[in-house]
Amino acid sequence: MNGWRPATVVAASMETPTARTLRLQVPDRGRVLAGQHIDIRLTAEDGYQAVRSYSVAAAVGDDLVETTVQELPDGEVSPYLIGDLAVGDQLEVRGPIGRWFIWRSADPAPVQLIAGGSGVVPLMSMIRERESAATRVPFRLLYSLRSPENGYYRDELGRLCSTGSLRVDYVHTRSAPDGRRPGRLTQDELASLVIPVEQKPEFRVCGPTAFVEQCARWLLDLGYPANTIRTERFGG
Ligand SMILES: Cc1cc2nc3c(=O)[nH]c(=O)nc-3n(C[C@H](O)[C@H](O)[C@H](O)COP(=O)(O)OP(=O)(O)OC[C@H]3O[C@@H](n4cnc5c(N)ncnc54)[C@H](O)[C@@H]3O)c2cc1C
Repeated sequence: MNGWRPATVVAASMETPTARTLRLQVPDRGRVLAGQHIDIRLTAEDGYQAVRSYSVAAAVGDDLVETTVQELPDGEVSPYLIGDLAVGDQLEVRGPIGRWFIWRSADPAPVQLIAGGSGVVPLMSMIRERESAATRVPFRLLYSLRSPENGYYRDELGRLCSTGSLRVDYVHTRSAPDGRRPGRLTQDELASLVIPVEQKPEFRVCGPTAFVEQCARWLLDLGYPANTIRTERFGG
């Protein structure tokens, strides 16, 4: 569905100390494919407008969408969405948008998801889609984040791991609870954690631009075909 339309904030909760999950009621929302995003438009009293894209983490019922917004302290829009926007407020929404960075539950290939920070948001919609479709296609998530308290959807991911439905490998860049020394993902580590080439996985890689581009280059170096690697860049 194209065109701007009003949406109402019906729930909001802090996902981490610096990220907030918003649930929006979007009339005429239509079908949302796992991995799609919406555009949000804010209009100030003087008519100034700002538009930003946010991935759908979950599409609930006929008219609800959830997203999670990471605060960029010097950003224009994200601090407002986290600190000021209240339940009951209205904003404008366009979408759902995107036909490339999606995953359909009928796809038979094993899926390797790779997230940097808030890049986990659209990947979570794929994980949730897989759960609701009850397909047993193998799914793995490699999730790079600063520290455990920055992890989105921790309880839900933990539950899926404990039932054996999903494998999640965390890479902590600043402080780590596990034996691994904190630090950025390396190519060797990526190679050891992702689904092996011979199993012909499909990749969905999302996060800050530099992270996504580095991971995509490494995957190509490791011999994964370009047409199996789909990426989405959040900026930065
Ligand atoms: C398709 C798509 C989906 C997205 N989904 C999400 C989502 O689900 N959750 C979410 O939190 N964000 C998401 N983003 C990013 C979002 O659209 C905004 O860019 C982000 O919220 C920053 O907006 P801002 O107005 O606060 O910062 P701005 O005022 O636009 O930028 C402030 C500064 O931060 C830098 N910057 C902008 N974006 C990033 C970033 N992602 N990482 C690091 N530095 C950055 C800019 O270069 C600039 O220097 C998505 C982006 C795209 C393109």
